[in-house]
Amino acid sequence: MSIISKIEELNRELPTSVTLVAVSKTHSAQEIMEAYSGGQRVFGESRPQEMCAKQEELPADIEWHMIGHLQRNKVRSIISFVSLIHSVDSARLLEAIDAEASRIERVVDVLLEVRVAQEESKAGWEENELRNYLSGGKWRVLKNVRFRGLMTIGSNTDDNEQICSEFTHVRDLKAELQTAFFDDSFDILSMGMTSDYALAVESGSTIVRVGSMIFGERDYKK
Ligand SMILES: *Cc1c(COP(=O)(O)O)cnc(C)c1O
Repeated sequence: MSIISKIEELNRELPTSVTLVAVSKTHSAQEIMEAYSGGQRVFGESRPQEMCAKQEELPADIEWHMIGHLQRNKVRSIISFVSLIHSVDSARLLEAIDAEASRIERVVDVLLEVRVAQEESKAGWEENELRNYLSGGKWRVLKNVRFRGLMTIGSNTDDNEQICSEFTHVRDLKAELQTAFFDDSFDILSMGMTSDYALAVESGSTIVRVGSMIFGERDYKK
């Protein structure tokens, strides 16, 4: 099936309130343009250098989302054009984003990545670490980041109950943090990939990040 028909299929299936991020990492500008011609405007990348190269070459009305682990020294390269950073996993990264955004006088939307999966390897804040950080209040001086919600990566398992319980847990955590620290603009839940986006949407996700279902398998060696 073509990239366009995959995009169309997903758009039929997803509620209109859910944003589809087409995860295009490792895929070519040409493949992205195929999705673009099917109406897709939001693309997710996980490497700053790759995202910058594509952004320079592709139409200016594409929204670029950073979804992968971001090193502080790479923030500057993406800060002028990135529309949402999903993968904010530390106070130091937040401070670096704020400093770079302030330098160019823009406010950048960010999500806090929360770790709920069983695997050790997954990035993100531990729930209590995040509560402590927010209670501490140091983030309140960061005027050039806007906190828009939470992101998570579910466990890599066939156990749907496990995945659902992780997603509903993060949904509840978002509601709790919104009430305690933020306002109505803390309104995004980025949850769900190719294998689990349907479960994520059932659990209240507002952004799904879908790659291989749209573009096929990734070849990291390319
Ligand atoms: C690669 C990636 C995705 C997309 O994964 P698929 O299984 O190909 O849909 C989603 N989210 C993050 C954080 C990723 O790194």
